[in-house]
Amino acid sequence: MFLSLRGVTKRFGSLVAVDHVDLDLTEGEFVCFLGPSGCGKTTLLRLIAGLETLDDGEVLLEGTDLAGLPARKRNFGVVFQSYSLFPNMTVAKNIAYGLECRKWQEAKIEARVAEMLELVHLSRDAGKYPHELSGGMQQRVALARALAPEPAVLLLDEPLSALDAKVRESLRGEISELQKRLGITTIMVTHDQDEAMEMADRIVALNRGRIEQVGSAEELYWDPATRFVGEFIGRINMLSSPDLCAGLDKTAGETVLAIRPEHIVVADGGAHSGTVRNVAFLGNTMRLGVEAGGQDLEIEVHGRRRRMQVGDTVTFDLPADRVRRLAASSP
Ligand code: ATP
Repeated sequence: MFLSLRGVTKRFGSLVAVDHVDLDLTEGEFVCFLGPSGCGKTTLLRLIAGLETLDDGEVLLEGTDLAGLPARKRNFGVVFQSYSLFPNMTVAKNIAYGLECRKWQEAKIEARVAEMLELVHLSRDAGKYPHELSGGMQQRVALARALAPEPAVLLLDEPLSALDAKVRESLRGEISELQKRLGITTIMVTHDQDEAMEMADRIVALNRGRIEQVGSAEELYWDPATRFVGEFIGRINMLSSPDLCAGLDKTAGETVLAIRPEHIVVADGGAHSGTVRNVAFLGNTMRLGVEAGGQDLEIEVHGRRRRMQVGDTVTFDLPADRVRRLAASSP
């Protein structure tokens, strides 16, 4: 295994911020740590980077325990949300800095800086200062600076969340493309499910310091293991009404039945009926808020069909193969 986490644990006083996390990364993989604010994703990244010390467990790079190795000796490139460039240095100097610290030869530094500038499409801005650049450009400099010393692993802590939507979109694609081209093992922290789904080979869904599920975007979407994952990735209805659950495998113990809004099939003569409470027209889809069997459901209808009205009766089926049984919390 390229990078392994074994029982990684971090406490702040009585709070367990990261709770016995086990994870294996293969070389060249792009993994996202995804979860809500406070779930421990940044702390976990900082533990890997060596910016926090573990209370328990180990971080192994190609089988070697990194305990005791300070951040600057880990050969990990780190990019933070705030670009944290040196304001008094030019773009080229910012990128060169880490190489100078590592005592690279001058000619080698020059060549590497030029290569990095080209990689992030900033060759023409080498002599500018950070304040002369847009946020997106500054983050590309930060990326180039992190990649310049040829790190073994790239660690990105919410690198896009300070940017506006348009820039974020284009940088998403740019980072993904760059990561694939360089084949560099990458971990990115994000609370944005779309970002994680678009960019990651595998998503690590974190909740209260624990891993709830690890898998591709497809796996987490189609087969969420827990209620948390089902609700955090995409939209989902929890089926609480005995009427709606009738005929389905009964809810047992600490599990709940759930179905995605787009998997509910609106059809004349469907097994269930409900009353439309609100209608949102979203172009190719229509999102209906429906009251059925004493609970609220969200139903998504695709394609062109007659516009539903509030107060209409709608009949629908809950296909058994689309209903998921989710664990209440981490197993
Ligand atoms: P966010 O997206 O808000 O940064 P996160 O998922 O990255 O959230 P962390 O920043 O890792 O979460 O924090 C996890 C928990 O640990 C939170 O409850 C946080 O308040 C706490 N925490 C983090 N750093 C410290 C610290 N240095 N001292 C005390 N508590 C901390």
